[in-house]
Amino acid sequence: MNPDLWPYSLYIHIPFCRQRCSYCDFNTYAGLEALIPDYVTALRGEIELLGAAAEERLAGRLPVHTVFLGGGTPSRLPLTELERLFSAVRGAFDLQPAAEISLEANPGTVDLASLRGLRELGITRLSLGMQSAHADELELLGRIHTYAEVPQAVDWARAAGFDNLNLDVIFGLPGQTLERWQVTLERALGLGVEHLSLYALTLEEGTPLLGRVAAGQLPEPDPDLAADMYDLATEMLAGAGFHQYEISNWGKTAGKVDSEVHNPSYACQHNLQYWRNRPYLGVGAGAHGYICMPAPKLLEEDGQAVGRAGAHDNPINMRIANVLAPAEYIRRMAEWDGKRSDFPQTPAAAQVTPIDMQAEIAETMMMGLRLTREGLSRTAFQARFDRPLTELFSPQIERLTRLGLLEWAGTRQDVLRLSRGGRLLGNQVFVEFI
Ligand code: SF4
Repeated sequence: MNPDLWPYSLYIHIPFCRQRCSYCDFNTYAGLEALIPDYVTALRGEIELLGAAAEERLAGRLPVHTVFLGGGTPSRLPLTELERLFSAVRGAFDLQPAAEISLEANPGTVDLASLRGLRELGITRLSLGMQSAHADELELLGRIHTYAEVPQAVDWARAAGFDNLNLDVIFGLPGQTLERWQVTLERALGLGVEHLSLYALTLEEGTPLLGRVAAGQLPEPDPDLAADMYDLATEMLAGAGFHQYEISNWGKTAGKVDSEVHNPSYACQHNLQYWRNRPYLGVGAGAHGYICMPAPKLLEEDGQAVGRAGAHDNPINMRIANVLAPAEYIRRMAEWDGKRSDFPQTPAAAQVTPIDMQAEIAETMMMGLRLTREGLSRTAFQARFDRPLTELFSPQIERLTRLGLLEWAGTRQDVLRLSRGGRLLGNQVFVEFI
């Protein structure tokens, strides 16, 4: 690996679901499965184009240390299509030997044979959408699976050789009580997985669930009760040996967590890339990428990457969003004339936003403060931006630490992070840094 490079992450969007869940506003569609073969062909084209353009720019293949197949329901893709996809990924990029390769799976769409196939393909981490342990809540959410299919999927995943499993769970549902949330948590903990992501329900514009709440058919979710649910989860998960490392994420650790500012070993490496505001490519309909290239030199401290020098001199520093509709994505990639486009833009790009240093600093603050252990290191900040964190944001940091929302941590008090009380008020803290 070229030591001057940040390793990149790769997100692959699979926008197909058997049916739309009532709360979902992701870029995903039901009834478009007939597009899958052409869609995978388009993904292969975009991956190959990005790989070749990056290679030309770097005089070497781009190192990729995490891949995440999200959606949508990536587990709906036939194994033959996933094979075609992975051969393109391995051909285009320098996929690191210990790469974390995650796939989101709906428990109603897997069986032992398909999970064995996924493991053999090189998927290392499976994220299962459990959401709730109660049949009526799953129905309210419009999920296609029963709760019984969740432990079944976990058993099959273990039998297939997966040793890194996540469950996604939602709380704060209309009419949900603390007692029923506790049952969902107990069942999730009883499944012995390595990672849990717990999300508070947000009622998104245009979703059937918001429509039912607005029409008075369902009670409005109670934010105070949702806060109690979050507190209960924090206590129960800590008691079960999970370490919280992000506002909504908890992981187990293989050994001892080295210190109070280190992440547990089962922390999701792909999502850490986002929270550290490091670069990633996004391929597929509606996928987003964040590119900074050529990547400046990595700065290390105690063997840990703590920053990169010269970020602001970087000629490529941008966010890219691809066109949303799968059919349009396929059309754009099919009509591509085969000429190299300027890295990192592909024919699928619908929006390109240059990122200047001010924007990069704001994004680094907002994302980094989500990390409840690692937080933001003032050493890494100085290395990345060549400016002291405490000088840039002195009044904000003073005020927010006085209010008990932020704290300094680590043996050298190097880490700025949300206090326990600040975790529920994260959004109020983040806006202070924009
Ligand atoms: S399975 Fe996931 S992506 Fe698909 S509709 Fe439901 S919440 Fe949305």
